[in-house]
Amino acid sequence: MKFLLKSSISALYHTKWKDCISRLSVSTWSPLATAFNTRPGRKLNFGAAISNTGLFNLPELRSHEGFYELQNRAIQDSERLIAESQDPKRSRKMVAIFDELSDTLCKVADLAEFIRIADPRPDYAQAAEDACVSISGIVEKLNTDRNLYSALRNTVDNSDKFSTTLVDNHVSRLFLFDFEQCGIHLPEAQRQRVVHLNDTILQLGQRFMSGAVTPRIVSKSVIPESIREYFTVEGEHIVVSGVFGDSPNPLAREAAYKVFFCPDQQQEIIISELLRLRYELARTCGFPTYGHRALKASTAETPSMVMEFLNTLGGELKKHTDDDFKTMAEMKRSDSSFNTSLCPWDTAYYTQVAKRDWLQVGSSEFSPYLSLGSCMEGLNTLVNKLYGISFVNDPVETGEVWAEDIYKLAVTHEEEGLLGHIYCDFYERKGKPNQDCHFTIRGGKELPDGSYQNPIVVLMLNFPTPRWSSPSLLTPGMLENLFHEMGHAMHSMLARTKYQHVTGTRCSTDFAEVPSVLMEYFAADPRVLASFARHFQTQEKMPDDMLTRLCASKHLFAASEMQLQVFYSVLDQVYHGAHPLERSLVDTLAELQNKYYGIPHVPNSAFHLRFSHLVGYGAKYYSYLLSRAVASWIWYQYFEQEPLNRHSGERYRRECLAHGGGKPSRELVAQFLGKEVTPSNLVYSLVNEIYKKRRTIEKLRNRKC
Ligand SMILES: [Zn+2]
Repeated sequence: MKFLLKSSISALYHTKWKDCISRLSVSTWSPLATAFNTRPGRKLNFGAAISNTGLFNLPELRSHEGFYELQNRAIQDSERLIAESQDPKRSRKMVAIFDELSDTLCKVADLAEFIRIADPRPDYAQAAEDACVSISGIVEKLNTDRNLYSALRNTVDNSDKFSTTLVDNHVSRLFLFDFEQCGIHLPEAQRQRVVHLNDTILQLGQRFMSGAVTPRIVSKSVIPESIREYFTVEGEHIVVSGVFGDSPNPLAREAAYKVFFCPDQQQEIIISELLRLRYELARTCGFPTYGHRALKASTAETPSMVMEFLNTLGGELKKHTDDDFKTMAEMKRSDSSFNTSLCPWDTAYYTQVAKRDWLQVGSSEFSPYLSLGSCMEGLNTLVNKLYGISFVNDPVETGEVWAEDIYKLAVTHEEEGLLGHIYCDFYERKGKPNQDCHFTIRGGKELPDGSYQNPIVVLMLNFPTPRWSSPSLLTPGMLENLFHEMGHAMHSMLARTKYQHVTGTRCSTDFAEVPSVLMEYFAADPRVLASFARHFQTQEKMPDDMLTRLCASKHLFAASEMQLQVFYSVLDQVYHGAHPLERSLVDTLAELQNKYYGIPHVPNSAFHLRFSHLVGYGAKYYSYLLSRAVASWIWYQYFEQEPLNRHSGERYRRECLAHGGGKPSRELVAQFLGKEVTPSNLVYSLVNEIYKKRRTIEKLRNRKC
């Protein structure tokens, strides 16, 4: 019965796929654009029995039970590799053994983690979850294996018996550092304490994250009757599940902000404890603060460098942010009868208003020009011009993917051939996490026989499902997300690292967003956009005026938005500095907001209790700004003059992307840009960019007047 069902689906998709081919002859859409403007194709299986290739073409995963087979094999293989690491007659470098051990476990763990999250079938999701638990059990055991640790430590301290390269040494040190995160190098009592701290921090983190998004329920009487219509009323209560950034009513915005961010004793206790324990953890492991521990092996390297970067940036932004806030305050005054100053709940709203009134952006006029097919075609053109690479739509086999409507792209270089595969899980579906994400399913690495293990990644996005009447039409924001995530995917595809431990996106957090943010620059460039934005029905190109307005809309109030990010980053740094803090968390918040942000702290509000990134980033929230600074620098130095320049693309590929995390990122950036990575160099291009953006907006506004 099941087979029959699959057979009919397969046939149906093949018919549609054939449809696309025939339509191609009467239109000028490329095969790739056509493929993404219809639902994904399936290969037609001939013969009576339908062969199920298994998830990601792994024959074990023809059934969910295959996860048990995979995890058992991973256990056996890791035992063999551990034995090899202890063998005095081993015939290869220690780092190669460690990388294979890591690959053996990651291949199952990453795959299982993805399927656990993404697969709508309960049996697969459950088997994947079991595999995750089982693999993390093995990892925990390995983390306490002192013989394994000593073997690695010995080669790092006294060099390996085989000659090693800079990459070998760098990756060995990264492995060693990971090992020491669990305190294996410490006396037993301290090691036990580190294990306990890690556990407790993990649990507190989960509780804090869930508390950070929990709606606040208050008595109806708290909200004035005149604005109750804006809220969700449940009996005698009002449920506030977020701030009303877009609401035109200033009182409703204010009320939502104050209720949502009001102090919460439970959250306060959790986050205070979490920060205190992180500090203790760092001290136990020999670091001055948790920030020092988190920043080891990053581009910034030390908390003092991060603070200098943030302080310099904050100082340089000041002049521009004052203008932004003045403009918004004027808008507020002319907009309402309330003569109040600008408040934190106003900025998102007036940015929307400016988009609408100054640039006429916000209506649905753009989406028809941004069909998924034309955007994918745009990406294809871009990577083709920059790197000589093509995306080839490869219909999936029966059983290869976890849900309907998944596309598979073969990433192919004009001379080097196949580089890897990107599975595109692009459409909304029930139960799918509403978060755009790049997953590494299998990392690239050199294999012992000299061949290369090609990477496999999944891009997960949440675009509208195509309808009979139209393909998936993206908003400008979705277009930006698509380019961003594709930046991560290209990092994975083009990193030809020796080791999977440092493949593509497995680099320092503050460098990992560089390739993705750089892609946002391409997506916001009128010349690039003009190369692909075409109306899905008429194929008419997006008119110049629309292109200009769309690109400019990303520049609105960019300085004040960046200043807000500076403030959040400083908050994250200070919270992860030396403990006990000089003041309470909320007083620290107020002090930093008043110092770093143009709109003062609102008394009796506690933003930090909703700032869930404190958990996930932990002293690395600045990474986004730093990555943006590096991306901006790269853009202006290499691509702004000529975005589709092959020579620049090749250099960027060879000198940045190819290394993954195999080279310390600070060194990599400095060599590529020909300048030292200092706070002032980083800030220079960001601020210069803000200046240019303001000029563009001013010109457009004057034109309208
Ligand atoms: Zn990203």
